[in-house]
Amino acid sequence: MKYYNLKDSQENVDFRTATIKGQGKNKGLFFPGSIPYFKEEFIQNLHQYSDEEIAYQCMKDFTGDEIPSEILRKIVAETISFEIPLKKINDDISVLELFHGPTLAFKDIGAGFMSRCLSYFLEDKKKKVTVLVATSGDTGGAVAHGFYDIPGIDVVILYPKNRVSPVQEKQLTALGKNIYALEVNGSFDDCQSLVKQAFANEEINSQLFLTSANSINIARWLPQQIYYLLALKQWQKMEKKAPVICVPSGNFGNICAGILAHLRGLPADHFIAACNANDVIPEYLKTKKFNPKKAIATLSNAMDVGDPSNFVRILELFNNEFDLLKNKISGYSIDDQKTMQTITETYNKYHYILDPHSAVAFASLQQYLQENPGKKGIILGTAHPVKFPDAVEAAIKTKIEIPQSLNDLMKKEKKTVEINSDFEELKRFLLDKN
Ligand SMILES: *Cc1c(COP(=O)(O)O)cnc(C)c1O
Repeated sequence: MKYYNLKDSQENVDFRTATIKGQGKNKGLFFPGSIPYFKEEFIQNLHQYSDEEIAYQCMKDFTGDEIPSEILRKIVAETISFEIPLKKINDDISVLELFHGPTLAFKDIGAGFMSRCLSYFLEDKKKKVTVLVATSGDTGGAVAHGFYDIPGIDVVILYPKNRVSPVQEKQLTALGKNIYALEVNGSFDDCQSLVKQAFANEEINSQLFLTSANSINIARWLPQQIYYLLALKQWQKMEKKAPVICVPSGNFGNICAGILAHLRGLPADHFIAACNANDVIPEYLKTKKFNPKKAIATLSNAMDVGDPSNFVRILELFNNEFDLLKNKISGYSIDDQKTMQTITETYNKYHYILDPHSAVAFASLQQYLQENPGKKGIILGTAHPVKFPDAVEAAIKTKIEIPQSLNDLMKKEKKTVEINSDFEELKRFLLDKN
């Protein structure tokens, strides 16, 4: 499979190059040159396949012969080595719990796949590699965990000061060794902009071998299709009609992977982009105007994105045709008050505890199902509620049980370097670190 640069279709690279480089010329995102269809027999009978086989079938066309099949099988098996159950919350809404991995967030899957691919591709490299990543909360921990203590790889994580939860902060600042955390006086968009500048900077690139780990990296973006296959596998045992699929969205990598899987043949009635107060895409779907804004801080902080990077990929999937896109995706914007109310009500009515991100999805899907009676759907549960104890406990008026692994983590010391949202400061850090 070849991947082309969405900003310069003349640039065509293989999977390995796209994974190592992260992004193409002019900061363009890579996009697969063709859409490999699933065999109908496979999609109809997902329940007959193991999760590992499903994940392997999902990814093999994207890696082609660049990763030998026995190694790809091992990579996907390790990537999804925890349970991913689909649970019914009520008659109409089920949740795919993607948060039982090492950092209790769905990003463990994309980050786990990407770190294993990178390690495989870089095994024979002499030069040290620096993975540079901006996080709005959960990416940092998942990436840090994926690369922790891997020889030849340094990880530098930028996160917005005071805008990630205490658990998230510990997950990315307490590891040490080859993991460096930079606390930025600014927003996630500022962090993302600093990272993009570093990738475009000649001096840095002449001295360091930089690669990205954000969802713009195809090796993080593409494996997210696996969620949707595993959801369908379990859905087929309960329901006949295709589900409406509702995705808590920030940078739009996850939902974009779901739509890709759908275009490859996975049944889905409709997609819903569930957003918090950062409503650029819901507004776009209403008005056809794409107006990036400054991110607003909310309870679902991993979705505080004002200029979603992956949206260009969604446009490409629909050949930039607004009407096609609008027929398949609806958008909702849920504010913090409604988020809290949803956590409270879902707990009181169904004894299910939602984290703030999943609550945004639950409220969005509920609204859509009210407007479109007779349908049923799935929300993607993207984070474990224990990662957001303040909001969740306030909403359900009950203490939630913290797993021992988290208690141990919280006792560890935070190690960070504080910088301003100033590219020169990042540059100095990167060059000095080397
Ligand atoms: C990253 C994240 C999201 C948003 O995912 P995107 O792929 O950026 O749209 C949603 N929920 C949680 C918990 C996250 O960490």
